Amino acid sequence: TSLFSSVEQGPPIEVFAVNKAFLDDTHPAKVNLSVGAYRTEECKPWVLPVVRDAEKRLAADDSLNHEYLPVLGLESFTQAATSMLLGGSECVAVAEGRAFGIQTLSGTGALRVGAEFLHRQLGYQTFYYSNPTWENHGLLFKNSGFTDARTYRYWNAKTRSIDFDGMYEDFENAPDKSVLILHACAHNPTGCDPTKEQWSKLAQLLKSRPSLFIFFDSAYQGFASGDLERDAYAVRYFAQEGFEFMCSQSFAKNFGLYNERIGNLTLVLRNASQVTPVKSQLTLIVRAMYSTPPNHGARIVSLVLNDPTLYEQWKQCIQTMSSRIKQMRLGLRERLEKLNTPGSWNHITEQIGMFSYTGLNPDQVAHIVSQHHVYLLKSGRINMCGLTTGNLDHVANAIHDAVTK
Ligand code: PMP
Repeated sequence: TSLFSSVEQGPPIEVFAVNKAFLDDTHPAKVNLSVGAYRTEECKPWVLPVVRDAEKRLAADDSLNHEYLPVLGLESFTQAATSMLLGGSECVAVAEGRAFGIQTLSGTGALRVGAEFLHRQLGYQTFYYSNPTWENHGLLFKNSGFTDARTYRYWNAKTRSIDFDGMYEDFENAPDKSVLILHACAHNPTGCDPTKEQWSKLAQLLKSRPSLFIFFDSAYQGFASGDLERDAYAVRYFAQEGFEFMCSQSFAKNFGLYNERIGNLTLVLRNASQVTPVKSQLTLIVRAMYSTPPNHGARIVSLVLNDPTLYEQWKQCIQTMSSRIKQMRLGLRERLEKLNTPGSWNHITEQIGMFSYTGLNPDQVAHIVSQHHVYLLKSGRINMCGLTTGNLDHVANAIHDAVTK
């Protein structure tokens, strides 16, 4: 018998299972609204022109080689990524040398390294993620050693908007030494973020609970609103208010570099004197996990963020992506309202970022998938980027049919 015979089949990962079902479907009108990746108006993946330009420059540069990067990554990248998040030297934490970044395997890797550090070095056992959240937060923190997974209220199904009072109360009642995972912007999957006023209320509460640790997850900076500063509002505000925190950054969406696994973990500390020991412990964690990070994505992002011309070009690209998404939001809402589909659909244009939480129930979702070949998650989350002018009518009709059946 095999030494592996005790291994049981694990549960499928929903988003990849739905994506596969879409690929296997031969229906000509099929639409994929599952996996979170940008698509053009022609429903094609998009390599940002600025990324192509950067890649050509890198390919032509004979001075570059394939030596190992340092364990904590390419410094010109981590510095630029941290400044992009916190706002450069106008951020006091940056100016005082108590904020720094380390290169990670995309946003997931940043969360993973940060979580393991919090567990091993600071002894955190409890973490809170929003209900609902990106489906990987729970598994990721558990595999980093956390033993106590809890959720905080976030979505009010009745109003199809954020349940701020519920969230606030759950934080008030959180036991000491809990990590709170907060989406920096464009909450996945609901597309609903706290307002500035709500962020300020949370900050006041968290000031009175100094053992709660804030872990921002920033997967959509610039991609969400088209404006890098606006999407970094919450993180910069907490830095300005003097908090210590971590923030994972992903360059998958805003650079279209999904498979390059390029991310950054930014840490904001209270004392600059702690930077060196904290870095040394992060080095040991990364060393044992994957030793050193990959190079290609880091070089691209570093080149673009540090070159004024490429940087402007990149900002145009994120404008292109975010405005196409906004158009699709408008288009879907307009069509549902024209069809007189029961319910209100204003949340579709009020939500922000890649996803919309439609409010469709699992029954309606199953109907849409099986009868109309439109693929979405059971939760009713749709990737707005899968919509195009060409398929909006089909998707709106499918939703209408499911809601009125
Ligand atoms: N956090 C959230 C909320 C996300 O939506 C994503 C991407 N789907 C990530 C983190 C990380 O993605 P990646 O590892 O591809 O950067």
